Amino acid sequence: MRIEYDIKLGFKDVMIRPKRSTLKSRSEVNLEREFKFLHSPKIWKGIPVMAANMDTVGTFEMAQALSNEGLFTAIHKHYTIEEWRSFLSFVSSNIYSSIAVSTGISQKDSEKLKNIISNFPDLQFICIDVANGYSEHFANYVKETRTKYPDKVIIAGNVVTGEMVEELLLSGADIVKVGIGPGSVCTTRVKTGVGYPQLSAIIECADAAHGLGGQIISDGGCTSPGDVAKAFGAGADFVMLGGMLSGHDESGGEIIEKNGASFKRFYGMSSETAMKKHVGGVANYRASEGKTVEVLYKGNVDSTLQDILGGLRSTCTYVGASRLKELTKRTTFIRVNEQENRVYNT
Ligand code: 5GP
Repeated sequence: MRIEYDIKLGFKDVMIRPKRSTLKSRSEVNLEREFKFLHSPKIWKGIPVMAANMDTVGTFEMAQALSNEGLFTAIHKHYTIEEWRSFLSFVSSNIYSSIAVSTGISQKDSEKLKNIISNFPDLQFICIDVANGYSEHFANYVKETRTKYPDKVIIAGNVVTGEMVEELLLSGADIVKVGIGPGSVCTTRVKTGVGYPQLSAIIECADAAHGLGGQIISDGGCTSPGDVAKAFGAGADFVMLGGMLSGHDESGGEIIEKNGASFKRFYGMSSETAMKKHVGGVANYRASEGKTVEVLYKGNVDSTLQDILGGLRSTCTYVGASRLKELTKRTTFIRVNEQENRVYNT
């Protein structure tokens, strides 16, 4: 047994220090980024905020709404090939740079991925997603996927430490997804005791990825536009959101009316709800590691996007970053024991 005594930080432990700036208005801030990738020859341009590949977030409807604003969606892996076909038959053809097809690492997942890619070869992004990206089997799966799809942009995760980011990039990933346990409907830290505070995970993993020419996605734990800004400030190239994009018209599922208020169901992809829906129940050798909650219905996602992107632009003006790309360089975090004043919060 060993103990690391360095303090690891989450979003709630810091604030961003304001800096002298020459920017006059938030409208002068450019949130678009352009990325070249470590393995894939493709170039991506857009606002690097993405919807999580959860079936109550990363839906086709969400992809359409987000791509209109230049944002990205990791489409959840449970759509059938027919559903893909009908979606791709009516959306405009520039959707391909705004979506990833998600997959797990079973034989069945691999066959489904092959089927989807061979039917829709214009798809450019593959998101290989497992709860625990530390197994040798996972790295081997990333290698095989790179060999099969040399031109695709491969996202792989989740991990939280630099050495594993390097291993996945060297195995063929272009972008590594970072986050174990911070998610709003995740119970991994409670069920297993395993995790890593998200801000420190981003700082350490970004450093490792950028050293090799790769990128990272900060996945999970953002509860406000300020957290999204902190994730970018810490070095994330992309920020993935689950809970913040749940509860909208585009999030799938029915509206639930209760005591005069409207809600939508939102659940973790390892929750009992998800496992019952997609694989017929929780296998007897594992525990569910996700919650099922009802979140207030938030209407159309456009106003939420405006809130997130408006907040991010404002962060950039506070530190004098005219482009999102400059935010990390201009970020100084201060450690704090307080966040917002909650005196009028119920
Ligand atoms: P959020 O933005 O809601 O805080 O976090 C979203 C992320 O939580 C997802 O992208 C995914 O990485 C993670 N997640 C989703 N469902 C589950 C689950 O059932 N269990 C765990 N451990 N993590 C989950």
